[in-house]
Amino acid sequence: MVKHIFVTGGVVSSLGKGLTSAAIGLILERRGLKVSLQKLDPYINVDPGTMSPFQHGEVYVTDDGAETDLDLGHYERYTHAKLTKSSNFTTGKIYSTVIAKERRGDYLGRTVQVIPHITDAIKEAIHEGATPGTDVAITEIGGTVGDIESLPFLEAVRQFALEQPRGDVLFIHVTLLPYLRASGEMKTKPTQQSVGKLREIGIQPDILVCRTEKPMTREMAQKISLFCNVRPEAVIEERDVEFSIYEVPVDLCRLGLDKLVARNLGLECERDTDLGDWKEMLENLKSLDKTCEIAVVGKYIQLHDAYKSIYESLSHAGYANRCKVKIRKVSAEDVLVKGTAILEGADGILVPGGFGERGIEGKIQAIRWARENGVPFFGICLGMQCAVIEYARDVLGLEGAHTLEHSPHTPHPVISLMADQAEVDQKGGTMRLGAYDCELRPGTLAHRLYGADHVSERHRHRFEFNNDYRARFEASDMVLSGLNPQRDLVEIVELPEHPFFVGVQFHPEFKSRPLAAHPVFRGFVEAALEHANGGRPSMTVESLA
Ligand code: GLN
Repeated sequence: MVKHIFVTGGVVSSLGKGLTSAAIGLILERRGLKVSLQKLDPYINVDPGTMSPFQHGEVYVTDDGAETDLDLGHYERYTHAKLTKSSNFTTGKIYSTVIAKERRGDYLGRTVQVIPHITDAIKEAIHEGATPGTDVAITEIGGTVGDIESLPFLEAVRQFALEQPRGDVLFIHVTLLPYLRASGEMKTKPTQQSVGKLREIGIQPDILVCRTEKPMTREMAQKISLFCNVRPEAVIEERDVEFSIYEVPVDLCRLGLDKLVARNLGLECERDTDLGDWKEMLENLKSLDKTCEIAVVGKYIQLHDAYKSIYESLSHAGYANRCKVKIRKVSAEDVLVKGTAILEGADGILVPGGFGERGIEGKIQAIRWARENGVPFFGICLGMQCAVIEYARDVLGLEGAHTLEHSPHTPHPVISLMADQAEVDQKGGTMRLGAYDCELRPGTLAHRLYGADHVSERHRHRFEFNNDYRARFEASDMVLSGLNPQRDLVEIVELPEHPFFVGVQFHPEFKSRPLAAHPVFRGFVEAALEHANGGRPSMTVESLA
């Protein structure tokens, strides 16, 4: 029988429910249990794929091609849970299935209503999210308790709990204890009120995880316990972490959350929570003395969440190289306005993925600067496309070379639309999405970094390297080192004469883990570190051996 944990949030958004859910997943895995993780999002978009980074932050992509909430990135970085299209449901997705059924006539003339039809669809989605063999399914409910739009989800999980055997469902409410600087005290009232809202719906939380800036005293825990009807030992502090989000599971374990969850759900665990390697990583992180600085040249650098997985992957790669990676966030538009002088001192340039024309020319300038000055460069998706455009214009002499995405009349569309994309008129969920094979050319840097002939990487784009220009690139110094064999698409480009110059059409940042950095990120940071130490002539295949 699968046991279920529901994680809700109170008082304010951005409390770190996603991180807390991921941390609980890790803790349970480290007790020998198999977990699944899922997010329910109350907004009406069918998925976040069509939303602007200003609205939503990063769109995370799963192997099976779902465009999902960025919390799923935390789930995959912390646990081994296999995430799929069933790992993220929105109100829009739930309603779409119910409305499609209604149109088919499946409801046999009945009035279709929020209760029971929408709530039934939500309960089905929760069952679907628990992959076979799961011991504990963790479902995070997006939004804040008290929002109108999250009501059907909360109602559905209330019903869900009633349908499961007693003791098989656990409710964890993540809440905030605000600190009032003027009076120098932390307040429990917002927590009391948000738990009150939950109880009105019929959900009594079993555990409260209290986000705090300052330590929570025993008296406060007692007070919260009394007013919220939660046992005092189940009021757990989750203090702001000092230097790494990977501290969260260790802190929660230290406060006994692992045992509490196991006891509450009657879980028979193979062992005590073993976070040995995780703790060792945190200890090592504290004592890193080498540093390199990477300039991330993008369009959304002012947003905390737009390049989340990229920033995480850089820190994983830093750990793998035993160095701190300092990130300089550079607006691509600023490169055009202020010139490449703003890149001076960077040990590596990373150009991430993106859509829209704004900032394109700045990215291209930054890439030229990296290429000409021997500064390590890593281009991801649009970043790779920009590297191809830059090389075409400046080295191959293809004046006006561009991507058809932004220049429909360019004389040299070195990046063009895939044939099967030409007919697409719906924007949602129609890009080249999810895992595709990539064959690596022996003798290249990519082949050496991966240490494999074939890899699989996740995609999210409509435009591609234009094969009409392949011969011209093949005759140049740019090596096409990764190809998709099924559709003969260029996946990786590199410049062997450069210390490190790699562009990838896919999104490697979705597959990096704290204890298993992605190989291309690892190689990039290694090259940046070399650059910081005065550089070396070239990161040749031999020197990597
Ligand atoms: N806009 C480009 C495309 O659709 C790149 C997408 C991306 O960087 N994710 O092909």
